[in-house]
Amino acid sequence: MLATIMRAPGDVRCEEVAEPTIQKPTDAIIRLSASCICGSDLWPYRGLNEVNEPRAMGHEYCGIVVEVGSAVKTVRPGQFVVGSFCLSDNTCPHCRFGFQSSCEQREFMSGAQAPFARVPLADGTLVATSALPADDLIPSLLAVSDVLGTGWYAADAAGVQEGSTAVVVGDGAVGLMGVLAARQMGAARIIAMSRHKSRQDLALEFGATDIVSERGEQGVARIKELTGGVGADSVLECVGTQESMGQAVDCARPGGKIGFVGVPHGVTFDGQQLFFQQKSLLGGPAPVRRYLPYLMDLVLDRTINPGKVFDLHIPLEDVAEGYRAMDERRAIKALLRV
Ligand SMILES: [Zn+2]
Repeated sequence: MLATIMRAPGDVRCEEVAEPTIQKPTDAIIRLSASCICGSDLWPYRGLNEVNEPRAMGHEYCGIVVEVGSAVKTVRPGQFVVGSFCLSDNTCPHCRFGFQSSCEQREFMSGAQAPFARVPLADGTLVATSALPADDLIPSLLAVSDVLGTGWYAADAAGVQEGSTAVVVGDGAVGLMGVLAARQMGAARIIAMSRHKSRQDLALEFGATDIVSERGEQGVARIKELTGGVGADSVLECVGTQESMGQAVDCARPGGKIGFVGVPHGVTFDGQQLFFQQKSLLGGPAPVRRYLPYLMDLVLDRTINPGKVFDLHIPLEDVAEGYRAMDERRAIKALLRV
């Protein structure tokens, strides 16, 4: 089959590879209904993470089970499934505490920018639908696998609730999903920080009530202005740079919460500053498995349409163009037809 391999920063292509096979009794093999490129795939693409050997790309997936290992009990061939980008047993103490992304057996999904993929720990990772979903729901179900689940976690970690004021730092796909999540959780005011017209429009469509295009100190000043000098109850940090993290912490009110899901690159904190600011920080890879059944239902009953975040649909063979388009910010998120 043709699958996506990154050989070096900037060098990603479709190459002929062997189809995946069951390697452990707890594995499943799925035929993907669609795949996509993640903002985090751009870190190695841009040379900000090392690429020491050819890497099978792709960790967002949904599709039909074609084969399961002998120990798999909860899914069977023919079922449509969605899984988390974090693979988990869903039985260890961390999983039972709702932090499947810190599972004692945690692995990260790979090789999903391809027509077929192997999903380890299938019982603890995959959730099946009761019937095959309509084709037009596939982009939204795919979004649940990572980008929506991650935006949801950002809002959850930031303590968004009915009536909250929430600020979303970052207008990438995850930030936009954070807006959608905050809306679903009942935030009264959702301020999206974005300076790009098309992303501002999508943020408004997903439920943002205000747009702030300033950044850094000016951005923080604008948030203070909009919140009567107080700051936000909840801040979703969806970028991962020193500037965005500083902005996120400064936008929160004392006692406020920051959910940070942008993978930090070069971010440091000053202990005393953090001490006197009195704010909660919770971040990390999202425990998407915790939210999967609920979010899949929201998609299946058409309450939400996160699939709109895919503004570029291309065939898998054109994956290199998808990476380029996202790298150059011509596209928010590319869906790959497999
Ligand atoms: Zn576990």
